[in-house]
Amino acid sequence: MKSPESPVGTVVFDLDGVVYIGSTPIPGAAEAMARLVRSGWQLIFATNNSTTTPNNVAQRLQEQSYLTIDERSVVTSGASAGHYLSTVGVESAFIVGSQQLRESIAAYGIFVAGHDHPDAVVVGLDRGLDYQTIDDASRAIRNGARFVATNTDATFPTSEGEAPGAGAIVAAIAYATGQDFVSCGKPARPMIDLISQQVRSERVIVVGDRLETDIALAHAAGWGSVLTLTGVTSSASDIGEEFAPDVVIASMHELPKVLELWDR
Ligand SMILES: [Mg+2]
Repeated sequence: MKSPESPVGTVVFDLDGVVYIGSTPIPGAAEAMARLVRSGWQLIFATNNSTTTPNNVAQRLQEQSYLTIDERSVVTSGASAGHYLSTVGVESAFIVGSQQLRESIAAYGIFVAGHDHPDAVVVGLDRGLDYQTIDDASRAIRNGARFVATNTDATFPTSEGEAPGAGAIVAAIAYATGQDFVSCGKPARPMIDLISQQVRSERVIVVGDRLETDIALAHAAGWGSVLTLTGVTSSASDIGEEFAPDVVIASMHELPKVLELWDR
């Protein structure tokens, strides 16, 4: 229920391609965020990047925007995986991924275990991946461990172009085991559940640059959607019917105006 202090609405921002690209802030993003806060909007940040933690993201956003960003308003796919594991009664997990993913999983009280009989195997982006790790993860899954993915993104953007994403590693282990997995990233249900825990308004609008994750998330959750053309989708002509956004903007500069005029 809405209380008198409820925000006018909640904006769920994707990060890479929306607020920044790699290490470079997107012009107008910080100003748009500040203006939305002044107008009474709640800001939430949701990323499929499993190589960072909510705390690290919050600090970075504060440095860029000069706003106070609570780490609870940041949802990463690693946090989503940790939250999911805690809700299904998993106590130990073997992690294929970054140190930040281990921390994100441990933050939910999950014991970060070796590959001998863990309750679950969590697979995220692992830039140091080797054959032995794929073998260890596959054996644990064949021995009955739950198979959980941080996300299924095939690639992610870098300054040198697209690089293989967590989804490419998940696919290798899925192929080796023949097992199905639960994804905890956008647009899957565990991510929607964790974001929903933070939402304090009835109106929710997702702002993202990727159709099959950000806009798909909005569709799956029944939220509004805005596609910005500063990231992986560079032209409105790339938009198919399947993940059509409600509104397309050239960049974050246009967002406050669009939200002011949003049908309420
Ligand atoms: Mg993005």
